[in-house]
Amino acid sequence: MTTNLGLSIITLITLFISLTPTLTKSEEGIDVFLPITLNLTVLTDPFSISAASHDFGNITDESPGAVLCPSSPTEVARLLGFANGGFSYNGVSTIPEPTFKVAARGQGHSLRGQASAPGGIVVNMTCLAMAAKPAAVVISADGTYADVAAGTMWVDVLKAAVERGVSPVTWTDYLYLSVGGTLSNAGIGGQTFRHGPQISNVHELDVITGKGEMMSCSPKLNPELFYGVLGGLGQFGIITRARIALGHAPTRVKWSRILYSDFSAFKRDQERLISMTNDLGVDFLEGQLMMSNGIVDTSFFPLSDQTRVASLVNDHRIIYVLEVAKCYDSKTLPITDLVMDMLSRTLGFAPGFMFIQDVPYFDFLNRVRNEEEKLRSLGLWEVPHPWLNIFVPKSRILDFHDGVIHGLLLNQTATAGVTLFYPTNRNKWNNRMSTMSPDEDVFYVIGLLQSAGGSQNWQELENLNDKIIQFCENSGIKIKEYLMHYTRKEDWIKHFGPKWDDFLRRKIMFDPKRLLSPGQDIFN
Ligand code: FAD
Repeated sequence: MTTNLGLSIITLITLFISLTPTLTKSEEGIDVFLPITLNLTVLTDPFSISAASHDFGNITDESPGAVLCPSSPTEVARLLGFANGGFSYNGVSTIPEPTFKVAARGQGHSLRGQASAPGGIVVNMTCLAMAAKPAAVVISADGTYADVAAGTMWVDVLKAAVERGVSPVTWTDYLYLSVGGTLSNAGIGGQTFRHGPQISNVHELDVITGKGEMMSCSPKLNPELFYGVLGGLGQFGIITRARIALGHAPTRVKWSRILYSDFSAFKRDQERLISMTNDLGVDFLEGQLMMSNGIVDTSFFPLSDQTRVASLVNDHRIIYVLEVAKCYDSKTLPITDLVMDMLSRTLGFAPGFMFIQDVPYFDFLNRVRNEEEKLRSLGLWEVPHPWLNIFVPKSRILDFHDGVIHGLLLNQTATAGVTLFYPTNRNKWNNRMSTMSPDEDVFYVIGLLQSAGGSQNWQELENLNDKIIQFCENSGIKIKEYLMHYTRKEDWIKHFGPKWDDFLRRKIMFDPKRLLSPGQDIFN
């Protein structure tokens, strides 16, 4: 998006609203005006507009009027200050508001246009990361935290940290996501049961509010903004810097996939392992389903075992894959071996179906990149992704399993994509933050990561998602959606439940004109 700068920059030359409008036409028919005194340049070329109109979901197409590629946080503050206090032109007369809406865009890995700003301005956060001084990632002298420009991808945080022998402690599965983007949701993965989501591992933030104010915040300084922004879906401000907690970086990882044909044994072992957060526990825990009506990917397993793994799936129709990892370096290798041995002796998996790989720490964390490359080479990455991510309370996971996994997914003629299925601990989440989770100590993270393409059409998959939600609703299973997209206000109010009043109050406090992240469709 930023490489075509020379070709595409248009300096906006309207001094005040009375000057001739030379600007971007939005879908809503309202032109976006920036006075020259703002000294901001925006991109309006087709390439920049198109890139900012789409996301990973590949389902929505929402064109902004323009894209801002800022070279400093103050440029973003000027933009928001103007949008908050400025004017708009509707082709006939100037009106005091709304001016235009603004969305930060990290990597655009949203699913339903959440980082879009139809007719407004998209702020390309990668530009800010590239312009960050002295660097996008600055590790503290004592190695306990990193100050990170929010447009930085997590993979670059990892690279900078491991060079110093340190590392963030909790990760998403995929690292080509921006820090600001995951902190606006939660940032969950296999380390969450131990360390909490990424939002639980932030010491402080720099944020530009919807009023254009640049504010630092932490649990002590401006806590309303701090807690609101974490998991806040971009509603209260644009994060420009995050101070991320770091720990020691191990060098290698014992990474294991362990196969179960019996769901209750799988569930029992998963839940037992996430309760062990001492040195004898694992460092990473997730789970996946392998179903005979889906693509059975056996590439993790040794070549000599791939056929029997595939047969196991065919024989049982569904196999539950416990995925665990234990990180180590030369000092901690003995205890790591002890733990892996203990797992092999005490877990209730299908005999002979525990497999271990020994890989560098970086490669383990960056494992999804290989999947991405494979899918890209097959033309299956840039396809519609009607993903459904939900949190299911532990008390109802059996009902969910029977009704959704057996009742709906296994009955499909074909499934396309990965199904994640693992529990996590709620005590690592801070309820003052905006993200919602079920009201139980343990809940399951379920990711139905289906891809359309080939014979499968995304609406069919979306209908299946609707059926799943409906099943939960009818059965009284109190799920919470993650990375959700609702278009009706009542659904948002229901989603936030007891937190809705706080969410609304913070919106009025920090973004009273409702300029920010319109693509989330919460306050439009
Ligand atoms: P964008 O899509 O660019 O933005 C998302 C939202 O955040 C938008 O509302 C945007 O306006 C807002 N935003 C972006 N930057 C900022 C900022 N600096 N300040 C304020 N608001 C901002 N999630 C997990 O939790 N765990 C996973 O394991 C995981 N794996 C994934 C794997 C893949 C392949 C994909 C595509 C997504 C995955 N996600 C996962 C989801 C991901 O965390 C979210 O989609 C996240 O928003 C993506 O970050 P992004 O930089 O692309 O955000």
